[in-house]
Amino acid sequence: MIEFSHVSKVYKGVKALDEVSFTVGPGSITGFLGPNGAGKSTAMRVLVGLCRATSGSATVLGRPYAELDRPGFQVGTLLDAAAQHPGRTGREILTLGAMTLGLPRSRVDEVLDLVGLSGKESRRTVGGYSLGMRQRLGIGHALLGRPAVLVLDEPANGLDPQGVQWMRGLLRGLSDAGCSVLLSSHLLHEVERVADRIVMIGRGRVLAQGTVEELSRGR
Ligand code: ADP
Ligand code: ADP
Repeated sequence: MIEFSHVSKVYKGVKALDEVSFTVGPGSITGFLGPNGAGKSTAMRVLVGLCRATSGSATVLGRPYAELDRPGFQVGTLLDAAAQHPGRTGREILTLGAMTLGLPRSRVDEVLDLVGLSGKESRRTVGGYSLGMRQRLGIGHALLGRPAVLVLDEPANGLDPQGVQWMRGLLRGLSDAGCSVLLSSHLLHEVERVADRIVMIGRGRVLAQGTVEELSRGR
């Protein structure tokens, strides 16, 4: 569902990605684990066409993102929850997203319910949300079009332990329904109990990949 093949990215002399190759299979939850600066965001941005690879290719559902027929319904992304429009309420942000996809307003209520923001979304604008609430909103936004693939950059950042547990349940449910998920984190504990596979990245290179059990044995 997602395939990185020898992807490299150089920013003015900084090698952010160095021959990154891995795949995320159908229904898999893959944790993309590495310290800050490892290249996780860059890889995800290359995947969804926000940044050009210097070499190599990244595809989703068998094609470069830019060539998908209905990307908004095929791939849901959360790339930077902190960057959400601070002056709008969560409901406004989701309503705009739903309108863009041509979805009925009822989908906004379904999504608010799914991410646990029902009743809280309009009390204040996003600028007054906690980071955890922004993450929930961002995940909801990614889910609007019922995508087959989810790309979530640090979705657990700012969630409290109950929030991390909630996210685990949500992602497991989505994966049981066939959704493929790539989620990044710099913290092993955020991904090890939800991911069926882990890709470890450091300084732009894939250091190891496999199931949590396989990686534990290799330690
Ligand atoms: P992560 O998401 O794992 O924290 P990033 O992909 O954000 O890692 O960053 C990988 C490397 O690329 C870092 O060294 C970072 O400083 C550098 N980098 C990221 N974005 C840019 C940019 N727009 N211009 C220059 N360097 C960048
Ligand atoms: P060190 O030897 O420096 O303590 P480790 O080999 O323990 O380093 O871990 C290096 C990185 O790999 C860390 O970011 C850690 O979170 C991660 N890591 C270690 N073991 C596993 C595992 N079984 N599964 C996934 N990630 C792991």
